[in-house]
Amino acid sequence: MVESLPFSFVASFTFLFGAVIGSFLNVCIYRLPDHESVVFPASHCRACSRVLSWYENVPLLSYLLQRGKCRTCGAQFSSRYFWVELLTAILAIALVMHSGLTTVSIGYFLFVAALVTITFIDLDHQIIPDVISLPGVVVGLLFSFLVSHLGFWNSFIGVIIGGGVLLAVALGYKAITGREGMGGGDIKLLAMIGAFLGWQSVPFTLFVASCFGSIIGIVVMIRRHADSQLPLPFGPFLALGAVSYLFFGERVINWYLGLF
Ligand SMILES: [Zn+2]
Repeated sequence: MVESLPFSFVASFTFLFGAVIGSFLNVCIYRLPDHESVVFPASHCRACSRVLSWYENVPLLSYLLQRGKCRTCGAQFSSRYFWVELLTAILAIALVMHSGLTTVSIGYFLFVAALVTITFIDLDHQIIPDVISLPGVVVGLLFSFLVSHLGFWNSFIGVIIGGGVLLAVALGYKAITGREGMGGGDIKLLAMIGAFLGWQSVPFTLFVASCFGSIIGIVVMIRRHADSQLPLPFGPFLALGAVSYLFFGERVINWYLGLF
């Protein structure tokens, strides 16, 4: 039934669905760190507190039509609302192209939605809320029963290795330098990634995260005039590594193994 639908229809529906969920993720990104409800109160202008009407809440479109401004007080909304909606919509389409319109895609979508939320909260506050990562571990373990090439044991070992590797790094770093380097949030995040993608994803994710983290870290250090004490959140890089593994991991690993 689903296979017989034209791709343009499936793609438009998926894009809209992704944008709507992206809009909800924006709410989570702004409210979860302050322990506010993500349901009440309704979306409002942060400057004049006026509650936004339905046509000001249409994902992507409202932002473009109002040029990112509140209609009453003219306050500028962050363009990030728009980019988070667009990013989530693109990820939704990419997943349907990758795994089809299946329950597996829905599971992966939950996973990438959690990663998007974690990324922007970590960028803003240098924290990764347990309220996302810990249930994420459990959902990932349950999800493994749905994915034939994942399976429970891959997922379970993924949690142990994902959490264990960063815990060891954190303890080692603290023993050598006497300072906290790796946050507990990163440890739980990599455990969640291991749960959803299996233990094979852990070295790949760490490798990609470290490469991008080092490059961006050097750029940031040069621009901030080499103050290496300033923390650079690692969560966004782990999320980038995990999404890369989800879409390209198998191909890259096969290519790599083919070299020998
Ligand atoms: Zn306003």
